[in-house]
Amino acid sequence: MLDLGGIETSTDRALLRQKSRDFYWYSPILKALLDGKCADLLARPKDEAEVLRILAAARAAGMPVTARGGGTGNYGQCVPMQGGVVMDLSGMTGLLSLRDGVAEVEPGARMVDIDAWARPQGWELRLWPSTKRTATIGGFVAGGGAGVGGLHHGTLRERGNLLGVRVATMQDPPAILDLDGDRASPVNRTYGTTGIITRIRLPLTPAQDWRDVAVAFADFDDAARCAWALAHADGIAKKMCAVFDARLPPFFKGLETPAGQALLLTSITPAGMVALRDLVGDHRGTIFADQGMAAAEADPAATPFYEYCWNHTTLQVLKRDRGVTYLQCRFPFEGTLESLSAVRARFPDELWMHTECVRFGGRLTMSALPVIRWTNEARLYEIIAGFEAEGCGIANPHVVTIEEGSGYRRVPGDQLGFKKMVDPLGLLNPGKMKSFEEDRA
Ligand SMILES: Cc1cc2nc3c(=O)[nH]c(=O)nc-3n(C[C@H](O)[C@H](O)[C@H](O)COP(=O)(O)OP(=O)(O)OC[C@H]3O[C@@H](n4cnc5c(N)ncnc54)[C@H](O)[C@@H]3O)c2cc1C
Repeated sequence: MLDLGGIETSTDRALLRQKSRDFYWYSPILKALLDGKCADLLARPKDEAEVLRILAAARAAGMPVTARGGGTGNYGQCVPMQGGVVMDLSGMTGLLSLRDGVAEVEPGARMVDIDAWARPQGWELRLWPSTKRTATIGGFVAGGGAGVGGLHHGTLRERGNLLGVRVATMQDPPAILDLDGDRASPVNRTYGTTGIITRIRLPLTPAQDWRDVAVAFADFDDAARCAWALAHADGIAKKMCAVFDARLPPFFKGLETPAGQALLLTSITPAGMVALRDLVGDHRGTIFADQGMAAAEADPAATPFYEYCWNHTTLQVLKRDRGVTYLQCRFPFEGTLESLSAVRARFPDELWMHTECVRFGGRLTMSALPVIRWTNEARLYEIIAGFEAEGCGIANPHVVTIEEGSGYRRVPGDQLGFKKMVDPLGLLNPGKMKSFEEDRA
């Protein structure tokens, strides 16, 4: 085994199994592929120097290294497909500086903690996943990138949403690179295949006192039209806006939606409440619940409404029904609502629609994370084809490689060229970058 004296390590089998998993089991296809994959060693560095020592030792031994933050990824991103070391970054939680709205933090910091630190200084995160309370910022940069705040700021791949990183390479010897602006793109959503992120510089946005609001509608199309109007209502400041088929809210523990009603969830500033009431009235909706987001977030027994949104919607259903899975799609920018109706009409029974209003490249649209009754792989791909026929992009969550899964979420830049430079032996999270594996073959 590696000589890592002084660094926290473990070979405990139960712990290794736990630290070799994420939420890939949402997908029956990934479950079959990844169940049983396990690391040989867990190493938990406390600083950059220890990261470099682990990489140097693993390189010398020819052992793969797979980074792990909170382990909340959905596509097996942090599952070590070829064993080796799982490097758990959750011990590097430093909140280093906040100046002029730019935060510098270590990768293992949980996003909820970054926000709690920034808020008293007048700032908050621009973007966070619905796993804000459990996921790390390193995992969000390397494995996620869309979510709450996307209605205003787009995704993490928009230029300006990630200002810079420090990254440890798998070169001989391992080195630290400090990358800013576009130069950081090669580590943006590359699943830790292009280096271990040891620091992140993020732009923040002025903090707001968000209020979570729930609105019920007798008709899904009214809910969708209301969400679309709200997304375009520039006079109402909002952090998110999501719509759910009436079959989904019964799974949302803690939110008593009137029976049989479609649901709209949004987070707006208190100043927007009057205008929201008028907008909702125009679309025959009824506001039935509201709460302060920050108070709910701080209370482990409460549920901020974003934990019903994004990929939490699927989780809420899976908690009570393991017979479903999901997709990730983006509706076209033109004819968005028409495309939404058309997809629903194609799959009236097995697909329960859930959409999130988001901005891509400055244009508003809806992303969808619909819950889908699982039958088999062939049927899943028929449903994907149905979405594509209605003009939707797909970011397939049933595959493990960056290239096959990213779809419309791919970050521009020469990630393959960068990979070859920083990890010539292909030891960082092997099996996840298809173009690199093909290039080597
Ligand atoms: C219920 C649920 C809801 C979700 N909602 C969203 C959502 O709204 N938006 C979204 O984008 N995602 C979402 N996800 C996916 C996931 O929660 C997020 O992407 C999250 O940010 C991942 O962070 P993590 O710390 O758990 O990363 P992990 O799962 O630990 O890691 C993710 C990837 O990043 C790599 N990695 C981790 N740390 C580093 C590092 N320091 N250096 C290099 N590579 C690293 C890992 O190797 C892995 O490939 C959701 C998942 C679940 C289960």
